[in-house]
This record gives sequence, C-alpha cells and structure tokens, in this order.
Amino acid sequence: MSASGKLAAFRLPPLPTVGELIKLYRLRAEKQLSQNFLLDLRLTDKIVRQAGCLRGAHVCEVGPGPGGLTRSILNAGAADLLVVEKDSRFIPGLKLLSEAAPGRLRVVHGDILTYRMDRGFSASISKPWDEDPPNLHIIGNLPFSVSTPLIIKWLENIANQTGPFAYGRTRLTLTFQKEVAERLTASTGSRQRSRLSIMAQYLCTVHNCFTIPGRAFVPKPEVDVGVVHFTPLVQPQIQQPFKLVERVVRNIFQFRRKHCHKGVEKLFPAECRMELTQQMMQKADVDPTLRPTELTIPHMRALVDVYADLCAQQPSLLSYEFREELRIKHLTGKGDTPMREFLDR
Ligand code: SAM
Repeated sequence: MSASGKLAAFRLPPLPTVGELIKLYRLRAEKQLSQNFLLDLRLTDKIVRQAGCLRGAHVCEVGPGPGGLTRSILNAGAADLLVVEKDSRFIPGLKLLSEAAPGRLRVVHGDILTYRMDRGFSASISKPWDEDPPNLHIIGNLPFSVSTPLIIKWLENIANQTGPFAYGRTRLTLTFQKEVAERLTASTGSRQRSRLSIMAQYLCTVHNCFTIPGRAFVPKPEVDVGVVHFTPLVQPQIQQPFKLVERVVRNIFQFRRKHCHKGVEKLFPAECRMELTQQMMQKADVDPTLRPTELTIPHMRALVDVYADLCAQQPSLLSYEFREELRIKHLTGKGDTPMREFLDR
C-alpha cells in the first residue's frame, strides 16, 4: 500500500461535521464550565501535529467536548485513543465517533482531575524512564480553570514518575491561556519568568508551539490561547523532592520585584532568619541582589540543595510557614504595616 493509502486507512468515514453534531445534540457551550470549542479542523490538525507522529500511538485526550480535536487525533493515525470528558451531554456524540472508528476510541465519562490514568493503558506500553518516551501522548484543549491545576499536578507526577508518567516520559500537548503559556516557557530575565517557569522547566523541555487567537473559538473567550508541548527530562535539573523545590520557588517568587534574598528570608523563622539566609546565599553562591526573574535553573538548584541540607540539619525548618506566623501576629495585633501588606497579597 502507498504511503497515502496507509494514511487514508486511518481516516474517519464521512460523518456529520462537529458543528452539525453540536446542533443535533443541542450542545450549547456552558459558560460556567468555560467551554470554548474549536470547530476548524485545520486548527485542530495543527495542534495535533505539535504532538509529533501519532501513527499507531496511544493517546489520552482530556476534555474532548464535541470532538473536533478527537477527529484530528484519529485522522493522524492514533491506534488507541482514550477520551475523558466530564460533561455527560457530549458522551452520545463521542460514542457516535467511536462507532465510526471501531476499536480505536474509548470514551470515559469522568473528571480528569481524579481519573486514574495509570490504569487507563496496558502496562506493556511502558518504557524505562531513561529510554525514549513511550508511544503515549496526552493532548487536550481544557478550560483554563482546569489546565493550570492539572499541569501542576502532572508536574508533581513527573517528579515522582506516577500517574500518566508511570508509563515513562509521556509527552503532553496542552492549551493554556496565552499568558500562562508564556509563563511556562519564559526564559531567565524575561518579564513572564515565574514560579511556573521554574517548576515546568526543571522537569521538562517546554516548548510554546503557537498562539490561537480567541476568535478561533466558539464562543470566543476573552483571551488568546497558547499551545504548549512538554517532554519530561530524563534527569530533572533539580534533584530534590518536588514539595521542597516548590516551597523554595514559591517563597522566592513571593517578592518577584525585590532582591531574591527577600523571599529566601521567609523560609526561616525570625530568630535565625538573617543568619540562615546569609548562609544559604553564600553556600549556593547566588548574588542576593538578583531579582527572582533573573535566577537561572542552576541558581535555583544550588539554593534548593543548600536549603535541603539546612533542613536535614534542622528538620523543624520544614514545618515553618512565614504566612502562618504573620497571620498569628496579625490576629494578636503585633503585625507591623509591611506584614499586613504581605498578608493582602
Ligand atoms: N476539546 C474540545 C474542543 O477543542 O473543541 C472542547 C474544549 S472545551 C474548552 C473543554 C472541554 O473540557 C469541555 O468539553 C468540558 O466539558 C471538558 N472538561 C472540563 N473540565 C473537565 C474535567 N475536569 N475533566 C474532563 N473534562 C473536562
């Protein structure tokens, strides 16, 4: 069979268009659920191309809705597509699509935030972490309110090699609000550099693929949308527990416009704050006057490594929460003005 003949074998038979399905099943987008549909199959094809070659691949699509992206994934030759959709109104349309692609589309009515993806595919597709990624992809155009908590959860799963990453270095192609896509991929020194940049980039190669203008969606969202591709790294750039990294990074970025030692200080209780901050900056060999946005991943690695050593010597540091101390001071009327300002952030 010629190459084009092989590709044709994957293509779906003639079906009602996604727009017709929406009308047929009266699938009005629910504003409450931030549903914005992509009906232009050239665009959904373009998103799917960012995932790489899907011929014979296993794919999990999150939030298929009326199924535009789903059709593109099937047309790209995925052999086994599992879709997880929360809104029951979309299930009949997805089942129709499943009948048109026998044995290739499994429809799950569920919530991706709680769905056990580690049970969704056969263990036989797994690849050792330090080898090439498995032939498994996650693709999705989710509401922004879901995609951000979800990527944070999946980054933790990457660090622990659990959930979808129990199969190996599963690749992700996901949409985000444009600003979030920019933060995820922001390099050192850029205005968008943030906590999310560090957390994503110490664990993955992250690529901001392209921007979809809001007007391409039905109904049109307030913002534009960025498509981001993630490939988990074999060796995370910071080799410490995810929660510990998150703690240091969160504290440092609390004062994103100030010198970075300001945020570092807040890792330590008042009685040892100055001494341990100085020690941490010196041992990590990081200039305390750098802004958080100017810190590279190696800077962060050095800081987290020294913080981990300090915590190993003094485990009580791990339970110290500056915000909690502040709240107590505030409640007892002992908080000074700058502290009150901090609490309002
Ligand atoms: N993928 C479709 C498209 O591109 O046209 C729909 C996109 S719409 C922005 C998001 C979809 O995700 C909706 O179908 C919505 O019901 C679904 N969804 C929202 N939250 C979800 C969750 N927690 N788990 C699974 N699906 C969810």
